[in-house]
Amino acid sequence: MAKNGQWRLRTRPDGMVSEANFEFVQEPVPEPAEGQVLVRNLYLSFDPAMRGWINDVKSYVPPVQIGEVMRASAVGQVLRSRHADFAEGDLVTGLFGWQEFALCDPQRGGALGAPAKLPPGAAPELALSVLGATGLTAYFGILDIGELREGDAVLVSGAAGATGSVAAQIARLRGASKVVGIAGGPRKCAWLRDEAGLDAAIDYRAGSVSRRLREEFPRGVDLFFDNVGGEILDAALLNMAERGRIVLCGAISQYNDEKLPPGPRNYMQIVIRRLTLRGFIVIDHMKRAPQAVAELARWVAEGGMAHAEDIQQGIENVPATFLRLFDGSNLGKQLLKLADAQASPGSAGA
Ligand code: NAP
Repeated sequence: MAKNGQWRLRTRPDGMVSEANFEFVQEPVPEPAEGQVLVRNLYLSFDPAMRGWINDVKSYVPPVQIGEVMRASAVGQVLRSRHADFAEGDLVTGLFGWQEFALCDPQRGGALGAPAKLPPGAAPELALSVLGATGLTAYFGILDIGELREGDAVLVSGAAGATGSVAAQIARLRGASKVVGIAGGPRKCAWLRDEAGLDAAIDYRAGSVSRRLREEFPRGVDLFFDNVGGEILDAALLNMAERGRIVLCGAISQYNDEKLPPGPRNYMQIVIRRLTLRGFIVIDHMKRAPQAVAELARWVAEGGMAHAEDIQQGIENVPATFLRLFDGSNLGKQLLKLADAQASPGSAGA
């Protein structure tokens, strides 16, 4: 009988998440009941927010419970359907989790989320990256929350990642006077300059970020899109223009901290420079997703938006792939491939 390999949450991390926090189990591939569909996962998405989902704290989604399949976005293919709206072979996306096969109930969503069909011709990798949640986060973050204006001097941290790389390029495409990215290491900085077309890149591991910001922004930063928090946010606060705006997208530098550090040291700069800081969560903006995806897809098709995907392979490498987000191994969107789409999926495996 075909097996469904799954990674379940074994223990909650104390500080840095490790592979030992998860355990691998195999179960028989389930049969869909009336109204359900069975999906074979093709690509898993890895998102820093997943680190927060395994803390036992109140957040914008309930925590993953010990023993549950780790929650994760994925693109899969319908293998068997007992639901009128889904046919075998359909490509779908949803919160299908760290497993090879997911049982979904489109009516109720279920623990692992309702599937949504991919638009015809959509590439699974892009549906999880520039045309998926991270692309949308960048889009709504820089345009709606940051209210990007033509001529803005823009700074993006975590700039070579899935969200940051798109945010920085939207700023470039929508008339920023200057766009600078902060990223870790020469490979990422070269990609930002040579592929993503940024004006400059700052390697935060190679020296004082504050000094480099003073050089790049003598008149200050009008709009800062922050994915990192901590020291990087502190350096940016010292280099903002008067009435500058800061989009608080995430603070990955703190996601594995057992004990949170004290707040920004340069907090008073918010007052002195009359800054506006705004946080947001992408799921609150999904009504406008079709319009945003259409514009992002056009930029990609016209060659104006560079994108990178780091694609690892194999169910056995799932937890190790998650850790890549936190040591900076990934350039662009972190994915893991489990299977190829099949022409006639019903005959392909389970
Ligand atoms: P990503 O940027 O593709 O990957 C994470 C990157 O973060 C790593 O490659 C690494 O790049 C950097 N990083 C990791 N640990 C760090 C540390 N201690 N200090 C500084 N940089 C560190 O991931 P993503 O999915 O696009 O997410 C980026 C940010 O957006 C995260 O903060 C995430 O929580 C946030 N986000 C928010 C929303 C929302 O709705 N608000 C939605 C999606 C994502 P370097 O090598 O450059 O350090």
